[in-house]
Amino acid sequence: MPDMMIMPITPADALIRAFPHAAILAGNDGAVIGFNDTASRLFPLLRQDYPLSFAIRDPSLLSAVTLTGQDRIPRKLEVMERLPVERVFAVHVSPVMPLSPVMQISPNDTGSILVVFDDLTAGRSLERMRVDFIANASHELRTPLASLLGFVETLKGSARDDAAARDRFLGIMEAQAQRMARLIDDLLSLSHIELNAHIPPRDTVDIISVVRQIADGLRPLARERAVELQVRAHAQEAMVLGDRDELLRVFENLIENAIKYGYGGGKIMIETALSPPDMIEMTVRDFGPGIAVEHVPRLTERFYRVNVAASRDAGGTGLGLAIVKHVVVRHGGRLEIESVLGEGTTFKVFLKLNRLPS
Ligand code: ADP
Repeated sequence: MPDMMIMPITPADALIRAFPHAAILAGNDGAVIGFNDTASRLFPLLRQDYPLSFAIRDPSLLSAVTLTGQDRIPRKLEVMERLPVERVFAVHVSPVMPLSPVMQISPNDTGSILVVFDDLTAGRSLERMRVDFIANASHELRTPLASLLGFVETLKGSARDDAAARDRFLGIMEAQAQRMARLIDDLLSLSHIELNAHIPPRDTVDIISVVRQIADGLRPLARERAVELQVRAHAQEAMVLGDRDELLRVFENLIENAIKYGYGGGKIMIETALSPPDMIEMTVRDFGPGIAVEHVPRLTERFYRVNVAASRDAGGTGLGLAIVKHVVVRHGGRLEIESVLGEGTTFKVFLKLNRLPS
Protein backbone atom coordinates (compact mmCIF):
# COMPACT_ATOMS: atom_id res chain seq x y z
CA MET A 1 0.00 0.00 0.00
CA PRO A 2 1.46 3.39 -0.94
CA ASP A 3 0.55 4.84 2.48
CA MET A 4 3.01 2.48 4.10
CA MET A 5 5.81 4.13 2.13
CA ILE A 6 5.36 7.50 3.84
CA MET A 7 8.19 8.06 6.31
CA PRO A 8 7.03 8.74 9.86
CA ILE A 9 7.81 12.30 10.83
CA THR A 10 9.03 13.56 14.18
CA PRO A 11 6.91 16.01 16.21
CA ALA A 12 9.58 18.65 15.56
CA ASP A 13 9.20 18.09 11.82
CA ALA A 14 5.42 18.34 12.10
CA LEU A 15 5.79 21.71 13.84
CA ILE A 16 8.17 23.04 11.18
CA ARG A 17 5.75 22.05 8.45
CA ALA A 18 2.96 23.97 10.17
CA PHE A 19 4.93 27.24 10.04
CA PRO A 20 3.38 29.88 7.75
CA HIS A 21 6.84 31.19 6.79
CA ALA A 22 9.76 29.35 5.23
CA ALA A 23 11.43 27.56 8.17
CA ILE A 24 14.46 25.29 8.50
CA LEU A 25 15.64 23.40 11.55
CA ALA A 26 19.37 22.70 11.60
CA GLY A 27 21.59 20.91 14.10
CA ASN A 28 24.36 22.71 15.95
CA ASP A 29 26.74 21.25 13.38
CA GLY A 30 24.82 22.99 10.57
CA ALA A 31 23.26 19.80 9.17
CA VAL A 32 19.64 20.15 8.05
CA ILE A 33 17.18 18.34 10.32
CA GLY A 34 13.89 19.43 8.79
CA PHE A 35 12.23 22.11 6.65
CA ASN A 36 8.82 22.98 5.28
CA ASP A 37 7.54 23.23 1.69
CA THR A 38 7.88 27.01 1.61
CA ALA A 39 11.57 26.69 2.51
CA SER A 40 12.15 24.04 -0.13
CA ARG A 41 10.53 26.25 -2.79
CA LEU A 42 12.92 29.01 -1.75
CA PHE A 43 15.98 26.75 -1.50
CA PRO A 44 15.36 23.77 -3.81
CA LEU A 45 18.66 22.10 -2.84
CA LEU A 46 17.68 21.61 0.82
CA ARG A 47 18.13 17.96 1.86
CA GLN A 48 17.82 16.36 5.24
CA ASP A 49 21.19 15.54 6.87
CA TYR A 50 23.10 17.64 4.30
CA PRO A 51 24.91 20.80 5.40
CA LEU A 52 22.82 23.97 5.20
CA SER A 53 25.57 25.49 3.04
CA PHE A 54 24.67 22.95 0.35
CA ALA A 55 21.41 24.81 -0.28
CA ILE A 56 22.04 28.34 0.99
CA ARG A 57 24.82 30.51 -0.41
CA ASP A 58 24.44 33.71 1.60
CA PRO A 59 27.64 33.95 3.73
CA SER A 60 26.14 36.27 6.37
CA LEU A 61 23.24 33.89 6.96
CA LEU A 62 25.51 30.84 7.16
CA SER A 63 27.81 32.53 9.63
CA ALA A 64 24.81 33.67 11.75
CA VAL A 65 23.71 30.02 11.96
CA THR A 66 27.22 28.90 12.94
CA LEU A 67 27.52 31.61 15.60
CA THR A 68 24.09 30.89 17.09
CA GLY A 69 25.05 27.20 17.17
CA GLN A 70 28.05 28.17 19.31
CA ASP A 71 26.80 30.95 21.61
CA ARG A 72 23.03 30.08 21.60
CA ILE A 73 22.17 33.77 21.09
CA PRO A 74 19.29 34.59 18.68
CA ARG A 75 20.13 36.74 15.64
CA LYS A 76 18.15 38.66 13.09
CA LEU A 77 19.46 39.72 9.70
CA GLU A 78 18.25 40.85 6.31
CA VAL A 79 18.93 38.63 3.33
CA MET A 80 18.30 39.29 -0.34
CA GLU A 81 17.67 36.47 -2.80
CA ARG A 82 18.06 37.52 -6.41
CA LEU A 83 16.87 34.42 -8.22
CA PRO A 84 14.43 33.65 -9.71
CA VAL A 85 13.10 37.10 -8.69
CA GLU A 86 14.50 39.62 -6.26
CA ARG A 87 13.12 39.07 -2.76
CA VAL A 88 14.07 40.47 0.63
CA PHE A 89 13.73 38.54 3.88
CA ALA A 90 14.10 39.30 7.54
CA VAL A 91 15.71 36.08 8.75
CA HIS A 92 15.39 35.05 12.39
CA VAL A 93 18.03 32.59 13.60
CA SER A 94 17.01 31.20 17.00
CA PRO A 95 18.54 28.55 19.24
CA VAL A 96 16.18 25.69 20.13
CA MET A 97 16.78 23.97 23.45
CA PRO A 98 17.30 20.19 23.51
CA LEU A 99 13.82 18.71 23.22
CA SER A 100 12.11 16.44 25.72
CA PRO A 101 12.39 12.72 24.92
CA VAL A 102 8.93 12.74 23.29
CA MET A 103 9.86 15.54 20.89
CA GLN A 104 13.46 14.53 20.53
CA ILE A 105 14.99 15.00 17.11
CA SER A 106 17.69 12.40 17.67
CA PRO A 107 18.82 10.41 20.69
CA ASN A 108 21.81 12.70 21.19
CA ASP A 109 19.94 15.99 20.71
CA THR A 110 22.09 18.81 22.09
CA GLY A 111 19.91 21.61 20.85
CA SER A 112 19.29 22.90 17.37
CA ILE A 113 18.77 26.11 15.41
CA LEU A 114 15.57 27.37 13.87
CA VAL A 115 15.87 29.63 10.82
CA VAL A 116 12.68 31.47 9.84
CA PHE A 117 12.31 33.68 6.75
CA ASP A 118 9.91 36.60 6.93
CA ASP A 119 9.26 37.85 3.37
CA LEU A 120 9.52 41.65 3.28
CA THR A 121 9.31 41.93 -0.51
CA ALA A 122 5.66 43.04 -0.81
CA GLY A 123 6.05 45.75 1.85
CA ARG A 124 9.29 46.97 0.29
CA SER A 125 7.86 47.26 -3.20
CA LEU A 126 4.80 49.13 -1.86
CA GLU A 127 7.19 51.49 -0.14
CA ARG A 128 9.14 51.99 -3.37
CA MET A 129 5.93 52.59 -5.30
CA ARG A 130 4.87 55.25 -2.80
CA VAL A 131 8.22 57.02 -3.00
CA ASP A 132 8.21 56.85 -6.83
CA PHE A 133 4.67 58.15 -6.89
CA ILE A 134 5.49 61.19 -4.77
CA ALA A 135 8.58 61.89 -6.87
CA ASN A 136 6.57 61.63 -10.11
CA ALA A 137 3.70 63.76 -8.84
CA SER A 138 6.09 66.48 -7.63
CA HIS A 139 7.95 66.43 -10.92
CA GLU A 140 4.69 66.71 -12.90
CA LEU A 141 3.63 69.71 -10.82
CA ARG A 142 7.03 71.37 -10.84
CA THR A 143 7.28 71.54 -14.64
CA PRO A 144 4.23 73.79 -15.22
CA LEU A 145 5.01 75.70 -12.04
CA ALA A 146 8.53 76.51 -13.27
CA SER A 147 7.09 77.69 -16.56
CA LEU A 148 4.50 79.88 -14.77
CA LEU A 149 7.21 81.47 -12.62
CA GLY A 150 9.35 82.03 -15.71
CA PHE A 151 6.55 83.91 -17.46
CA VAL A 152 5.76 85.97 -14.36
CA GLU A 153 9.41 87.08 -14.34
CA THR A 154 9.27 87.95 -18.03
CA LEU A 155 6.05 89.90 -17.57
CA LYS A 156 7.57 91.85 -14.69
CA GLY A 157 10.69 92.55 -16.76
CA SER A 158 11.29 92.66 -20.48
CA ALA A 159 7.68 92.10 -21.58
CA ARG A 160 6.23 94.66 -19.19
CA ASP A 161 5.21 97.14 -21.88
CA ASP A 162 4.68 94.73 -24.74
CA ALA A 163 0.89 94.22 -24.97
CA ALA A 164 1.06 91.52 -27.67
CA ALA A 165 3.66 89.45 -25.78
CA ARG A 166 1.66 89.88 -22.57
CA ASP A 167 -1.48 88.43 -24.14
CA ARG A 168 0.41 85.51 -25.57
CA PHE A 169 2.19 84.76 -22.28
CA LEU A 170 -1.03 85.02 -20.30
CA GLY A 171 -2.55 82.44 -22.64
CA ILE A 172 0.35 80.04 -22.02
CA MET A 173 0.19 80.69 -18.27
CA GLU A 174 -3.51 79.90 -18.24
CA ALA A 175 -2.87 76.61 -20.02
CA GLN A 176 -0.10 75.69 -17.53
CA ALA A 177 -2.30 76.57 -14.55
CA GLN A 178 -5.11 74.47 -16.02
CA ARG A 179 -2.71 71.58 -16.43
CA MET A 180 -1.76 71.82 -12.75
CA ALA A 181 -5.43 71.96 -11.79
CA ARG A 182 -6.18 68.86 -13.90
CA LEU A 183 -3.29 67.01 -12.32
CA ILE A 184 -4.47 67.87 -8.81
CA ASP A 185 -8.04 66.80 -9.71
CA ASP A 186 -6.75 63.48 -11.02
CA LEU A 187 -4.55 62.93 -7.96
CA LEU A 188 -7.48 63.65 -5.67
CA SER A 189 -9.83 61.31 -7.59
CA LEU A 190 -7.24 58.58 -7.48
CA SER A 191 -6.74 58.87 -3.74
CA HIS A 192 -10.53 59.05 -3.19
CA ILE A 193 -11.06 55.88 -5.24
CA GLU A 194 -8.21 54.13 -3.42
CA LEU A 195 -9.64 55.13 -0.07
CA ASN A 196 -12.93 53.44 -0.99
CA ALA A 197 -11.30 50.53 -2.79
CA HIS A 198 -12.50 47.95 -0.26
CA ILE A 199 -16.10 49.27 -0.12
CA PRO A 200 -18.10 47.92 -3.06
CA PRO A 201 -20.40 50.55 -4.62
CA ARG A 202 -24.10 50.18 -3.78
CA ASP A 203 -26.05 52.44 -6.12
CA THR A 204 -27.85 51.06 -9.13
CA VAL A 205 -26.61 52.78 -12.26
CA ASP A 206 -27.77 52.50 -15.86
CA ILE A 207 -24.41 52.04 -17.53
CA ILE A 208 -25.78 52.65 -21.02
CA SER A 209 -26.95 56.13 -20.04
CA VAL A 210 -23.46 56.75 -18.59
CA VAL A 211 -21.82 55.82 -21.89
CA ARG A 212 -24.31 57.92 -23.90
CA GLN A 213 -23.91 60.94 -21.63
CA ILE A 214 -20.13 60.93 -22.06
CA ALA A 215 -20.27 60.30 -25.80
CA ASP A 216 -22.72 63.22 -26.22
CA GLY A 217 -20.53 65.49 -24.11
CA LEU A 218 -17.44 64.66 -26.16
CA ARG A 219 -19.06 65.11 -29.59
CA PRO A 220 -17.83 68.71 -29.92
CA LEU A 221 -14.22 67.59 -29.27
CA ALA A 222 -14.66 64.75 -31.78
CA ARG A 223 -16.02 67.17 -34.36
CA GLU A 224 -13.06 69.46 -33.78
CA ARG A 225 -10.71 66.55 -34.57
CA ALA A 226 -12.85 65.38 -37.49
CA VAL A 227 -13.56 62.00 -35.97
CA GLU A 228 -16.93 60.30 -35.99
CA LEU A 229 -18.27 58.89 -32.69
CA GLN A 230 -20.57 55.90 -33.18
CA VAL A 231 -22.50 54.46 -30.26
CA ARG A 232 -24.16 51.04 -30.58
CA ALA A 233 -25.92 49.85 -27.45
CA HIS A 234 -27.39 46.36 -27.23
CA ALA A 235 -30.34 47.56 -25.10
CA GLN A 236 -32.07 50.71 -23.88
CA GLU A 237 -30.64 50.30 -20.42
CA ALA A 238 -28.44 47.96 -18.40
CA MET A 239 -28.19 48.19 -14.63
CA VAL A 240 -25.00 47.63 -12.66
CA LEU A 241 -24.15 48.20 -9.03
CA GLY A 242 -21.90 51.20 -9.21
CA ASP A 243 -20.86 54.72 -8.43
CA ARG A 244 -22.19 56.90 -11.27
CA ASP A 245 -19.51 59.60 -10.97
CA GLU A 246 -16.69 57.05 -11.04
CA LEU A 247 -18.18 55.24 -14.03
CA LEU A 248 -18.57 58.57 -15.84
CA ARG A 249 -14.83 59.13 -15.29
CA VAL A 250 -14.04 55.71 -16.77
CA PHE A 251 -15.82 56.39 -20.06
CA GLU A 252 -14.75 60.00 -20.16
CA ASN A 253 -11.10 58.90 -19.96
CA LEU A 254 -11.46 56.08 -22.48
CA ILE A 255 -13.45 58.02 -25.09
CA GLU A 256 -11.37 61.16 -24.64
CA ASN A 257 -8.17 59.10 -25.08
CA ALA A 258 -9.62 57.52 -28.23
CA ILE A 259 -10.25 61.01 -29.60
CA LYS A 260 -6.94 62.50 -28.39
CA TYR A 261 -4.67 59.69 -29.54
CA GLY A 262 -6.73 57.84 -32.16
CA TYR A 263 -8.51 60.61 -34.07
CA GLY A 264 -6.36 59.93 -37.12
CA GLY A 265 -8.47 56.81 -37.76
CA GLY A 266 -11.49 59.02 -38.45
CA LYS A 267 -13.91 56.86 -36.46
CA ILE A 268 -14.48 55.70 -32.89
CA MET A 269 -16.89 52.87 -32.10
CA ILE A 270 -18.48 52.52 -28.69
CA GLU A 271 -20.44 49.31 -28.26
CA THR A 272 -22.18 47.49 -25.46
CA ALA A 273 -22.96 43.78 -25.44
CA LEU A 274 -23.99 41.08 -22.99
CA SER A 275 -21.12 38.90 -21.86
CA PRO A 276 -22.70 35.70 -20.55
CA PRO A 277 -23.52 34.64 -17.99
CA ASP A 278 -23.96 37.90 -16.07
CA MET A 279 -21.61 40.59 -17.35
CA ILE A 280 -21.93 43.55 -19.66
CA GLU A 281 -19.05 44.38 -21.98
CA MET A 282 -18.41 47.95 -23.11
CA THR A 283 -15.96 48.49 -25.95
CA VAL A 284 -14.26 51.73 -26.97
CA ARG A 285 -12.42 51.20 -30.22
CA ASP A 286 -10.37 53.61 -32.29
CA PHE A 287 -8.63 53.13 -35.61
CA GLY A 288 -5.66 55.35 -34.78
CA PRO A 289 -1.94 54.59 -34.61
CA GLY A 290 -2.26 51.84 -31.96
CA ILE A 291 0.16 51.10 -29.12
CA ALA A 292 3.26 48.88 -29.36
CA VAL A 293 2.74 45.61 -27.52
CA GLU A 294 5.47 46.22 -24.91
CA HIS A 295 3.64 49.30 -23.59
CA VAL A 296 0.21 47.70 -23.25
CA PRO A 297 0.67 45.96 -19.86
CA ARG A 298 2.06 49.19 -18.33
CA LEU A 299 -0.60 51.66 -19.53
CA THR A 300 -2.56 51.55 -16.28
CA GLU A 301 0.49 52.45 -14.16
CA ARG A 302 0.37 55.95 -12.75
CA PHE A 303 2.17 58.46 -14.95
CA TYR A 304 3.02 55.84 -17.58
CA ARG A 305 2.83 57.37 -21.04
CA VAL A 306 3.89 55.97 -24.38
CA ASN A 307 4.96 59.41 -25.53
CA VAL A 308 5.29 61.99 -22.78
CA ALA A 309 5.37 65.00 -25.09
CA ALA A 310 2.31 63.85 -27.06
CA SER A 311 0.40 63.25 -23.82
CA ARG A 312 1.30 66.71 -22.48
CA ASP A 313 0.34 68.35 -25.76
CA ALA A 314 -3.01 66.61 -25.56
CA GLY A 315 -3.48 67.91 -22.00
CA GLY A 316 -2.86 64.47 -20.47
CA THR A 317 -1.78 63.84 -16.89
CA GLY A 318 -0.75 60.20 -17.28
CA LEU A 319 -3.27 59.23 -14.60
CA GLY A 320 -6.38 58.59 -16.72
CA LEU A 321 -5.96 54.87 -17.25
CA ALA A 322 -4.77 54.35 -13.65
CA ILE A 323 -8.10 55.86 -12.56
CA VAL A 324 -9.99 53.66 -15.06
CA LYS A 325 -8.30 50.52 -13.73
CA HIS A 326 -8.94 51.42 -10.08
CA VAL A 327 -12.61 52.16 -10.67
CA VAL A 328 -13.16 48.97 -12.65
CA VAL A 329 -11.45 46.89 -9.96
CA ARG A 330 -13.48 48.58 -7.22
CA HIS A 331 -16.61 47.62 -9.16
CA GLY A 332 -15.51 43.98 -9.28
CA GLY A 333 -15.05 44.26 -13.06
CA ARG A 334 -12.26 43.75 -15.56
CA LEU A 335 -10.37 45.92 -18.06
CA GLU A 336 -8.89 44.48 -21.26
CA ILE A 337 -6.67 46.36 -23.71
CA GLU A 338 -5.87 45.18 -27.21
CA SER A 339 -3.89 47.15 -29.73
CA VAL A 340 -2.31 46.61 -33.12
CA LEU A 341 0.21 49.15 -34.39
CA GLY A 342 -1.16 50.98 -37.37
CA GLU A 343 -4.68 49.56 -36.88
CA GLY A 344 -5.97 50.99 -33.63
CA THR A 345 -6.74 50.27 -30.00
CA THR A 346 -9.63 48.60 -28.20
CA PHE A 347 -10.43 49.08 -24.51
CA LYS A 348 -13.02 46.72 -23.02
CA VAL A 349 -14.68 47.20 -19.67
CA PHE A 350 -16.55 44.24 -18.18
CA LEU A 351 -18.97 44.89 -15.33
CA LYS A 352 -21.34 42.59 -13.51
CA LEU A 353 -25.01 43.25 -14.32
CA ASN A 354 -27.26 43.92 -11.38
CA ARG A 355 -30.45 42.98 -13.17
CA LEU A 356 -30.81 41.57 -16.65
CA PRO A 357 -32.40 44.16 -18.95
CA SER A 358 -36.00 43.40 -19.90
P1 ADP B 1 -2.83 60.61 -20.43
O1 ADP B 1 -3.27 61.62 -19.45
O2 ADP B 1 -1.40 60.75 -20.82
O3 ADP B 1 -3.75 60.49 -21.59
P2 ADP B 1 -3.68 57.96 -19.67
O4 ADP B 1 -3.41 57.19 -18.42
O5 ADP B 1 -5.11 58.23 -20.01
O6 ADP B 1 -2.84 59.26 -19.58
O7 ADP B 1 -3.03 57.18 -20.89
C1 ADP B 1 -1.70 56.73 -20.77
C2 ADP B 1 -1.03 56.67 -22.13
O8 ADP B 1 -1.62 55.62 -22.91
C3 ADP B 1 -1.21 57.91 -22.98
O9 ADP B 1 -0.22 58.86 -22.66
C4 ADP B 1 -1.04 57.36 -24.39
O10 ADP B 1 0.36 57.28 -24.66
C5 ADP B 1 -1.58 55.96 -24.30
N1 ADP B 1 -2.96 55.82 -24.81
C6 ADP B 1 -4.11 55.80 -24.10
N2 ADP B 1 -5.18 55.61 -24.90
C7 ADP B 1 -4.69 55.48 -26.15
C8 ADP B 1 -5.30 55.26 -27.44
N3 ADP B 1 -6.63 55.13 -27.57
N4 ADP B 1 -4.48 55.16 -28.51
C9 ADP B 1 -3.13 55.28 -28.38
N5 ADP B 1 -2.50 55.50 -27.20
C10 ADP B 1 -3.27 55.60 -26.10
